[in-house]
Amino acid sequence: MENSKIEWTNHTANLWWGCTEVHEGCSNCYAVAFAHRYNHDIWGNDKPRKEVKSVWKELEKFQKQALEAGEIHLVFVGSMMDIFEKSMPLVNWKGEEYSERNSLYWTTGMLRDKFFNEVVPNSPNLMFLLLTKRPSNINKYIPESWKENPPQNVMFGTSPVNQETADNLIVQLSKVNGKRFLSVEPQLGAVDLMKAVIDGEDSEKVLLDLVDWVIVGGESGHHKRPYNTDWARQIREDCKVKNVPFFFKQIDKVQAIPDDLFIKEFPQNVTPRFIEKVTNPKIKMEGNVIIKVQENEGVGSSSNRKLAEDYVNSLSPFKKEIGMAILAGITPAEVAIKFSTERNKPLKTYQAYVTMVTNGLENVVGSIKRLGAGKRAAMTKSLNVASNKIIESPANKVKSNDVRLTSEERQIIIKSLAVIKLANNEEELNKKVDYLMKKMDA
Ligand code: SF4
Repeated sequence: MENSKIEWTNHTANLWWGCTEVHEGCSNCYAVAFAHRYNHDIWGNDKPRKEVKSVWKELEKFQKQALEAGEIHLVFVGSMMDIFEKSMPLVNWKGEEYSERNSLYWTTGMLRDKFFNEVVPNSPNLMFLLLTKRPSNINKYIPESWKENPPQNVMFGTSPVNQETADNLIVQLSKVNGKRFLSVEPQLGAVDLMKAVIDGEDSEKVLLDLVDWVIVGGESGHHKRPYNTDWARQIREDCKVKNVPFFFKQIDKVQAIPDDLFIKEFPQNVTPRFIEKVTNPKIKMEGNVIIKVQENEGVGSSSNRKLAEDYVNSLSPFKKEIGMAILAGITPAEVAIKFSTERNKPLKTYQAYVTMVTNGLENVVGSIKRLGAGKRAAMTKSLNVASNKIIESPANKVKSNDVRLTSEERQIIIKSLAVIKLANNEEELNKKVDYLMKKMDA
């Protein structure tokens, strides 16, 4: 499981798979496509949901890792499900139904209760982001005690995609006691969050007064719908006025994010140190290209972009192809996988070339260069050890013709890159690398 290519979180956890579409934001739900690819008949109101057996151990592991690192890690609950969907029957991975005769848990409601009552209170180092398109159900399903005393390690969120859904869903979310956030994604139209709330209790307020954090992003993938970056600018400005943290995720994961939208703020009390570092404005200015390549979002500021493009254009045809893929926003690890899979050659061959091109790009934009030769050598060595360890691990399904890393492994590579390259000194670097290595051994 996890972790997550979703950059506003450290981990993703799914208690089950399956859902039913709610509004137009669901039209290209990647979870539907993913489930179909695995032949799981778990979509719709009349279908069961598939349990995810491994999730409980994963959650324990996330808590242990965060504790060891002395950090708070974010866990997005439900990339393949909606945690506040009504309770549904459960099946195992073979599609066999659970019942009280063969399992302790046979509905999604029971899994949800287990999560609320056993996991949340025992995970003080995790901040759970419970995102739903059904916020009117939240108060129906949370434990009674949460209504008075919401847990400090939970944020409740909802996903409007246009003005109409914002008007409805935000007001529903506001009935929930606790920290609240919006994920306006995929944004399909302009959303005015300064609109007055049409509601007795909150009629003095505007929609934005009802939430503590706003994430915004366009749609990605083959069927992406058009996106206008001015929609994000409008929300950015409103967030500034209301002092609400604003996080711009992506245009479409292909186009570079304009400088004025490269804003990745987190609410103060949920900021994991790792992400804080990536979004620190000073580091951002020094290493825009690196940060954005790591985050799978294309290359950053326009001046850096120009330098990076010039560099890529000067390369030999093969390296140029790799450089173009990196500039298009594919992470270095994924570029190696892509080339190796397409050309049916060992991953290692491409990994070496990708490292060369990535290092070249980094030199061009001048972030790592300033850190000095000793540190740079240490960083490169650690990075190579980290990537090789993941890629060569027998646990991976890496064959010459079938190269796939799990999302967790990819996340580790991406995080390794960020941590290694952004460490402030040798000691911090070593500490971080040790931690990552332990994580990989786990
Ligand atoms: S609510 Fe979420 S998981 Fe369910 S169909 Fe919509 S986008 Fe997919």
